[in-house]
Amino acid sequence: MTNSAEPGIRLYVDLPLANGVVLEPSAAQSHYLLVVMRRHAGDRVALFNGRDGEWLAILEAPQRRRCRLAVQHEMRPQTPEPGPALLFGPLRRTRQEFLVEKATELGAASLEPVATQRMLTDRVNLGRLASIAIEAAEQCGRITVPEIVAVQPLDQRLATWPAGRCLYHADETGHGQPLLEALGARGPGDLLIGPAGGFEPGELASLQASEDVVAVSLGPRILRAETAALAALVCWQAVCGQRPTIKRDARRRSRPAAGDQPASA
Ligand code: SAH
Repeated sequence: MTNSAEPGIRLYVDLPLANGVVLEPSAAQSHYLLVVMRRHAGDRVALFNGRDGEWLAILEAPQRRRCRLAVQHEMRPQTPEPGPALLFGPLRRTRQEFLVEKATELGAASLEPVATQRMLTDRVNLGRLASIAIEAAEQCGRITVPEIVAVQPLDQRLATWPAGRCLYHADETGHGQPLLEALGARGPGDLLIGPAGGFEPGELASLQASEDVVAVSLGPRILRAETAALAALVCWQAVCGQRPTIKRDARRRSRPAAGDQPASA
């Protein structure tokens, strides 16, 4: 029985959503709906596109590899993601993909790799990271997908930093105020996590010279960059985040990936 009051499946579509729209999901989404999740005509699916809110749609005309989704009514209006931009030094592929998935779940509004002198790699597959962010947004109930910004040099990013917007720089040297305290005192700002190789002294000097950059500590241990990023996001949500509003279907489990085997009958 899948025709429950709350749709358990959420899909991101890059198409306008409005009452009466009928759309065809992508081949991968159709496979996910029909084969992995074994959905049928009349089943309910939640749709979002990051712009028009979240909509209830009904699955129609399922065939072997395709189906249609008829958009019915809005379930949640669009609101901007209040979370911080996360600036970070590019990481090796697996760690970076892990970071993008988890940072999306933890409410990062955008993910911005910044080039620094000691970074390990500047290879960032934006398309792959965007699809990881979309899947994480579908899974966790977001109605936004964080923007994945192309790599840009840290000094350029700082040069165009909006005046008065606080950038919390996670500083592993222990000189900064604890991030929780800093957030409590100064309020929401964005987050900068350094590269695995650390910053060069010159880079640290320009961070220190910038009025909007605030050095913060995440404790006495040196964390890996992705651990530091997630710890910082958790602190941000604890101090500046919204109270929970999502009513979860208790039976729902983590969604299988689109390529997973069909659920056993
Ligand atoms: N290469 C450095 C460590 C870099 S850790 C060294 O070997 O000493 C990668 C990034 O994680 C750092 O640049 C910093 O932004 C963040 N980080 C790690 N541990 C931290 C801590 N305890 N407090 C604040 N930031 C931390």
